[in-house]
Amino acid sequence: MRKEIIKEWGFPGTGIFLAAGPCSAESEEQVLSTAKALAGNGVDFLRAGIWKPRTRPGSFEGVGLKGLGWLDRARSETGLKIGTEVAEPSHVEACLEYELDVLWVGARTTTNPFSVQAIADALKGTDIPVFVKNPMSADIGLWIGAIERLANAGLTRLGAIHRGVSSSLEMRYRNAPAWKMPIELMRRLPDVPLICDPSHICGRADLISSIAQEAMDLLFDGLMVEVHPDPSNALSDAAQQLTPDQFQIMVDALQQCIEESDSSVFVNHMSKLRENVDELDSQVLELLGKRMDVVREMGRLKSEQHVSTLQPHRWREILDDRVRRGAGLRLSEDFVLQLMQSIHEEAIRKQEADRVKGG
Ligand code: PEP
Ligand code: MN
Repeated sequence: MRKEIIKEWGFPGTGIFLAAGPCSAESEEQVLSTAKALAGNGVDFLRAGIWKPRTRPGSFEGVGLKGLGWLDRARSETGLKIGTEVAEPSHVEACLEYELDVLWVGARTTTNPFSVQAIADALKGTDIPVFVKNPMSADIGLWIGAIERLANAGLTRLGAIHRGVSSSLEMRYRNAPAWKMPIELMRRLPDVPLICDPSHICGRADLISSIAQEAMDLLFDGLMVEVHPDPSNALSDAAQQLTPDQFQIMVDALQQCIEESDSSVFVNHMSKLRENVDELDSQVLELLGKRMDVVREMGRLKSEQHVSTLQPHRWREILDDRVRRGAGLRLSEDFVLQLMQSIHEEAIRKQEADRVKGG
């Protein structure tokens, strides 16, 4: 199990795997006071950004090398393990020199295979635990690719951090939670511990506990949370950092979940419901298959008459109608739109393929 794997890496935590600390190391005082407030509370490592990859120039770009000395001191004064983000080989070299306990690759870096490869090359010959954050966009290939590059360099202690993805449609959160991507990562890489960074998903301190709980409900192995002694005066990500007290309250309130229960009432009831779902899914698939056959017949007709594959007017009518019907069945507009768009995309693909074949 992934939870046991992470324990073997030598982290001290007792329950949920927890990384906590400021977005950025700002001063020795700030790093030490955060570390002291977090030590002994089940935190597995103190996080702090030293080199900050900012989307726009001119924002606080981190204190650089001297911050490593502050982290080192925080470790020796509190016993906490320490970790930071690396974005290029010179960062890796400095962190290895200071014997950091753990590193992570940030979202902007994961986006670029050249940078990830350079980091992997610099890490060759070590086996320091490295967590890889998902890239800015919902591209699971880049995320898995980055983990593979590090694995190919010989690293075996690799984890993943889900921090949401940028989305022009998202209103509530800074980054859309896009849970289906980490769920797919769990399926494809079942032995890679996966933690959630609710701070960068939420962008707002008051939303963090609900996203953290959702991550627990989805069987994430732990959390990375931004904690700052004085959030409103933080030099980066001020709106999303918790005070150490707020962090503790949040962690204490988290409900941990297990994957299965052995209560016989639960097992029996669940197995009936699962049979039900299996049967319904097979009906859904059968219907989709039938729908696709009809669509292909329509495609042949269109093709004979040199009518376009895409019919915007009809498509608009279908969407309006299905969203309305979906609402009557308690299906959200978003869900029905996504579902119909996937079905339509596949229908167009099939019609086009037939057209090419038909000449
Ligand atoms: C961070 O952890 O402070 C950070 C910059 O996060 P991300 O790479 O997820 O944006
Ligand atoms: Mn941050």
